Amino acid sequence: MNALAATSRNFRNAARILGLDSKLERSLLIPFREIKVECTIPKDDGSLVSYVGFRVQHDNARGPMKGGIRYHPEVDPDEVNALAQLMTWKTAVADIPYGGAKGGIGCSPKELSNSELERLTRVFTQKIHDLIGIHTDIPAPDMGTNAQTMAWILDEYSKFHGHSPAVVTGKPIDLGGSLGREAATGRGVVYATEALLAEHGQAIRDLTFVIQGFGNVGSWAARLIHERGGKVIAVSDITGAPSELLAHECDVLIPCALGGVLKRENAADVKAKFIIEAANHPTDPEADEILSKRGVTILPDIYANSGGVTVSYFEWVQNIQGFMWEEDKVNNELRRYMIRAFHNIKGMCQTHNCNLRMGAFTLGVNRVARATTLRGWEA
Ligand code: GLU
Repeated sequence: MNALAATSRNFRNAARILGLDSKLERSLLIPFREIKVECTIPKDDGSLVSYVGFRVQHDNARGPMKGGIRYHPEVDPDEVNALAQLMTWKTAVADIPYGGAKGGIGCSPKELSNSELERLTRVFTQKIHDLIGIHTDIPAPDMGTNAQTMAWILDEYSKFHGHSPAVVTGKPIDLGGSLGREAATGRGVVYATEALLAEHGQAIRDLTFVIQGFGNVGSWAARLIHERGGKVIAVSDITGAPSELLAHECDVLIPCALGGVLKRENAADVKAKFIIEAANHPTDPEADEILSKRGVTILPDIYANSGGVTVSYFEWVQNIQGFMWEEDKVNNELRRYMIRAFHNIKGMCQTHNCNLRMGAFTLGVNRVARATTLRGWEA
């Protein structure tokens, strides 16, 4: 099942559990705006190459739209659409005043030189600069992009609109980035894991962990789990053997890379008792069902990896206030947000007698539905 079908199915289940009006349900599913732009750049050898860039702005009922920009060969409109929708529910679960968006360029960033990446990022920014902004849509890093990418977007955007550090988050510290943002998604994964394990009377130090994906999120999660005495028994990066890794004997499996890695074909092989979704939509709905029947507890993406966007929010707040926080304050606030969201999700699980994924979806969808209804539909 593709990412958009899977995400929309989870949304519809949540809408049914909440008894949402069918017209409201339909309006929440349709993206606010979908942008598709041609990005042509000269390569270092002088030849021209064209890419397609996307920005899907899904919903802004709760605030400016927010989400990363991904550079990856598999970026396509459906995928970006699904990821934008996930951002809407994710920011609502975290209870930060944002909607959801996602962008991407279908390219292989490892095959581009630094100057080619810079040109591509600047051209993309020129094409979308009128549609993003501090109070409209705030990009951030995602797979294949990083603080340097945000610096180029900030610089290009500022040529049109004046110096605007708050237009992107996940920036370098020297340009108004937040302390703790680089580690935030991995750190949030660890706080979320601690909250879940505490419910089960367990702790990180007593368990074994397998981490699939060793980029920004996976490497920080591994480091912080190790610091807490957890046994990280296997990790893999993109060059490794992810299928073997997913079936590895362990207590906790943390997929930290691409979506759709757990599916009908391999769900029965998973040995872990807990799956922490540090990646976005790593579990296909069919795998979700198989794993749930087998009693595997899954901590869903829209909660488990929300530490990144939560600290993005702290970064944006610091930029707007013109006041920089100490790293301890960032981490303590992140912990507080992660624990609060976990208890809010558990509350929904109890009210609706559902699993953690539906607890998170009903929590997020309900908050967005309430904001939408309060704002009204008068044209
Ligand atoms: N790309 C990250 C995510 O998927 C962070 C988004 C953000 O900070 O806006 O949640």
